[in-house]
Amino acid sequence: MAHEILVVGSTALDTVETAHGRVTDALGGSAFFFAAAAARLAPVALVGVVGEDFPLERLDPLRSLGVDLDGLEVAPGRTFRWGGRYHEDMMGRDTLFTELGVFESFAPRIPAAARRRPVLFLANIQPRLQLDVLDQMEGSPLVVTDTMNLWIDTALADLRRVIARSHILIVNDEEARQLTGTRSLLGAARALQAMGPATVVVKKGEHGALLAGPDGLFAAPALPLERVVDPTGAGDTFAGGFVGSLAREMRVDGPALRRAVVRGSALASFSVEAFSLDRLLAVTPAELDARLRDFVALTDFTLD
Ligand code: AMP
Repeated sequence: MAHEILVVGSTALDTVETAHGRVTDALGGSAFFFAAAAARLAPVALVGVVGEDFPLERLDPLRSLGVDLDGLEVAPGRTFRWGGRYHEDMMGRDTLFTELGVFESFAPRIPAAARRRPVLFLANIQPRLQLDVLDQMEGSPLVVTDTMNLWIDTALADLRRVIARSHILIVNDEEARQLTGTRSLLGAARALQAMGPATVVVKKGEHGALLAGPDGLFAAPALPLERVVDPTGAGDTFAGGFVGSLAREMRVDGPALRRAVVRGSALASFSVEAFSLDRLLAVTPAELDARLRDFVALTDFTLD
């Protein structure tokens, strides 16, 4: 038994260029990355929109993982497309294009069966849409929220409303600083907690993640990797592992939150090993277990 998760977010075709190559119209978007990771740990239903040009057969691996795609709308028009090019250091990137397509008029409709799901992940989409989703939920789900710099710049008032209604906020270091005007990541996490969520996770890319929760602080490294092929979606993958872990354990206490950070980090470490969702969709349960043990070994030490 595990709690069932609902995710609402972007469902995209990505064109990505890194030092290791380039892919065109590859599976992407915050909700697909999240679902591919979370479905390893708990049942996931997805709500999003694609255009009539979307190759639906590419979703078969997600279906095989048990992801419920009944809430994926196929709308007249073109699928949301995003293009990005990574800098040599694999950290910085430039957005080359964002074509909203069917996303422009997207109004998420949560299927009746999904409105009572006990765990809701608001993946990165317009805060106005995140609010619409919150208003459609029945019961009182655990609300976990992600966002991006675009919305901090253009929709801050709505974003603050979403954050106020969230139990857990997951942001990256830049977003945490931008949202709070605070340079110290700990200071920023505290300021974000004051906006509503009892728990805040700050992702620091290859430097790991910092968790500030009711039980105090926890920090996990990212797994050191020799070859990072494509960092796209690592944050959404982390969130999938994190939320999936909480849903699987049906607990949100301190130890469960710590394990969630490590499961998120482990799944993210797979995601970046190949373009798009390619590596993530191929991960076996044995590989995930082995990587979780790598994390334990990496951080284990004695004082004497
Ligand atoms: P990340 O690497 O965590 O920033 O996530 C990358 C994913 O976000 C890509 O797969 C994109 O399709 C998606 N994305 C890019 N721009 C947006 C946007 N404005 N709204 C929602 N999703 C986006």
